[in-house]
Amino acid sequence: MIPAFLNDELEGVELKKFIEHVDSCPECMEELTIQLLVMEGLERLESGNNFNLMNALSRKLAAARSGVKLNHTLKHTLIWLELAVAALIIIALVILL
Ligand SMILES: [Zn+2]
Repeated sequence: MIPAFLNDELEGVELKKFIEHVDSCPECMEELTIQLLVMEGLERLESGNNFNLMNALSRKLAAARSGVKLNHTLKHTLIWLELAVAALIIIALVILL
């Protein structure tokens, strides 16, 4: 379901289930993060716009999460995960550029 989510093809119950699962499953969150980085990263490298990449995951998850209630601890974990991803992107960009 990760590729479907990234292509905005998930809706309703499917989307809700997906978000709930990803929020409680570190393995799927990691996979989602990697696939999003690959997808968005390639797009942005091609278009020469690298700077919004680190917001892409947060925006996508935030949009999907509206309406899906998150427990506080998970929210906290996700913020750290997103920060870690942002740091990784910066490192990757430094190496690439
Ligand atoms: Zn999972």
